[in-house]
Amino acid sequence: MKIGVLPIGQVEEAVLQRIQEGVTQVFPDTTCRVVDGKMPLRETAFDKKRKQFRSHAILSEVQGYAVKNPGFDRVLGVVDAEVFVPELNFVFGEAVCPGRAALISLWRLRPEFYGEAPGRELFYVRAVKEAVHELGHTLGLRHCSRLSCVMHFSNGVSDTDVKQRLFCDKCYLHVKAGIGRLG
Ligand SMILES: [Zn+2]
Ligand SMILES: [Zn+2]
Repeated sequence: MKIGVLPIGQVEEAVLQRIQEGVTQVFPDTTCRVVDGKMPLRETAFDKKRKQFRSHAILSEVQGYAVKNPGFDRVLGVVDAEVFVPELNFVFGEAVCPGRAALISLWRLRPEFYGEAPGRELFYVRAVKEAVHELGHTLGLRHCSRLSCVMHFSNGVSDTDVKQRLFCDKCYLHVKAGIGRLG
C-alpha cells in the first residue's frame, strides 16, 4: 500500500516524520511518505458557532487530493486544529470507510491540552495510533471491541493511551486481505 501524508495548514515536521515511520512499521507491504507541499486549512471549513473545523469538509478535500494523485493508494490528511462531526463534541479523526482518504487531528493529542506536563513522545505515539486507526477504516475495518486493538474507538485520549498502535489478530487479517486486494 502506498500512503501519502498530507499536512493541512501548519503542521510540525517532527510529528509528520513519526507518523510516516509508524504507519510504515504497522502496515505490511507498505510505503509511506510525506507529500511535497501542503493543503491550506480553509476558513470555509470553520464553524463559527462551534469554533471548530468541520471534519467532513476537510476530509472531502483530502478525498479530492487522493483523486488527483492516483499514485497514492491512500492519503492521510493531518491537521493541527480541532475538528468535529455534527453528532459528536469532537473527533480525533475521520475516514472514508472503505475509501482512499483519511484525516486525523493533532489538537487533543498533546498532554498539555489536558493541563499535563508537555510530553513529546506521548504526543507522537498518540498521533501514530490515530493515523493507523483511520487508515484501518479506509481498508474497510470497523471498530473493534478489544481495548488493546488500534481499531478500538477512542471516546477520549485515555482510550487512545490504552490501545496499542497494532491491530489485533482478527483485524490484522482484514488489513492483510485489504492490502492484498490493492495488487
Ligand atoms: Zn474509528
Ligand atoms: Zn481488532
